[in-house]
Amino acid sequence: MSLRRIMTAAIAMLAALALAGAASLIVLTTYLHRTTASMGSAVEGVRLAEALQVDLLSLYRLSDSLLRIPSDSPRSLAAIESNLRLHLTEARANAWSPQEQALIDDAERTISNYLLARERAANLPTEQAARELVPSLEAALAALDGLVTFNVNEARTVQLQADRWDQLANIGAVSVAALLVLGGGALLWWLRRFVFRPLLDMSRAMRRFGAGRKRTRAPVAGPVELRDMARTFNEMANSLARQQEEQLTFLAGVAHDLRNPLSALKMSAALVTSGRPIPEERMQKTMALVRRQVARLDRMVGDLLDATRIEAGRFELSLEERDARELATAVVELYQAGGSSHDLRLHLPEEPVLLCCDATRVEQVLHNLVSNALKYSQGGSRVDVIVGYESEEAVLSVVDRGIGISSEELRMLFAPFRRTGRAREKAPGVGLGLSVARRIVEAHGGRIEVESRPGVGSTFRVRLPRARSAAQPAVASSPAETVH
Ligand code: ADP
Repeated sequence: MSLRRIMTAAIAMLAALALAGAASLIVLTTYLHRTTASMGSAVEGVRLAEALQVDLLSLYRLSDSLLRIPSDSPRSLAAIESNLRLHLTEARANAWSPQEQALIDDAERTISNYLLARERAANLPTEQAARELVPSLEAALAALDGLVTFNVNEARTVQLQADRWDQLANIGAVSVAALLVLGGGALLWWLRRFVFRPLLDMSRAMRRFGAGRKRTRAPVAGPVELRDMARTFNEMANSLARQQEEQLTFLAGVAHDLRNPLSALKMSAALVTSGRPIPEERMQKTMALVRRQVARLDRMVGDLLDATRIEAGRFELSLEERDARELATAVVELYQAGGSSHDLRLHLPEEPVLLCCDATRVEQVLHNLVSNALKYSQGGSRVDVIVGYESEEAVLSVVDRGIGISSEELRMLFAPFRRTGRAREKAPGVGLGLSVARRIVEAHGGRIEVESRPGVGSTFRVRLPRARSAAQPAVASSPAETVH
């Protein structure tokens, strides 16, 4: 499982819970507001109905001797009547349901009946007026009682609904809290088990590796990202271990390869300084051996120096325009003068093959290829050095009929310190020449290719861009050759 997915899911869950909480709060507060408004309206309805009842009873009480209006209170009666009408209007404005409106209509009708009855009864004898008036008063009071009861019932209903919402809100809050606690706990547990522990293991492994325990590897566990990290660390550790092993092998190889020419030199020096007379021919042979061993030592040390320079990024070319034919001739002549037992042949085109190159470096590459061709083939066998061009490229080839290289070994041929099994048995070397040669050729904007078959021989081909002024029209060609 990936850490990113888990974190996204956890954040999405938290966001969803927060959204649900916020939405419930909004719904709850809106509902509470509506409940409070309904409750307020019901209380107001009760207050107004009771005020109307008080108005009616006051009106009835103020009637002198039940019906006769006292001479000093017409203004109070008018005030009570106006209060009555005002309370009726307020009650109508306060009513929000059709049922309540109907109850108010009913109350208004009965109150009007009472007021009419009062006017009619003003001229009747007291007993008769009382008989006329009391039933209409009771009807009006009963209608107002109905209004009170309706509002009280409304208030109770609203209260019940508010209680239900309260319970729902409690359940919702407890559930959200429980989900948050459970989700947070689960996330913490998961992080501890699958993230922190592998991280700690990895950091422990790194510390151990840093402290020199090179076999330590990080456990590959936890989410995808951490597993990738552990794998990368393990690959890096493997590669470091391999490099260290290669360096040790290299040091052993260098020591071993330095030893052979040094022993030869030691023996030659012992012979020359022995004081015994040495025949001229023997002396010549010894000096030739000394020259060869010194040249080999020189090449090995040169390769080592170049490799270190390349690794340190201190490798510079001093470019000039040179004819590839001259460079190849110089190298081949050196080997021919050195008394090589091989049949070394040089093939050159008639026209110049101009290069913009560091001549010493290109010669170094050719030296390496020719010396390898000689080293890894039988004495007396043929080695061809061919200079040619293809379109914009100069092609310098070295062809031998030697031990050859297998296809698996070809893949790693240009890596530093690589030596094929058969080569190791056949000739000394440190396995740096080809990697240095490739870096030199690539620094010139060219490339180096190899074709080889074990037991048949190898062809190394160096392709370098020709100098602009000399580039031929684009024709692939094998120019007319001169064999030297
Ligand atoms: P060195 O020759 O000092 O070992 P190089 O880098 O020049 O180092 O060559 C690397 C390896 O490539 C050699 O050890 C040898 O195994 C192989 N090799 C190079 N040239 C040839 C060749 N012409 N024929 C067969 N094997 C070769």
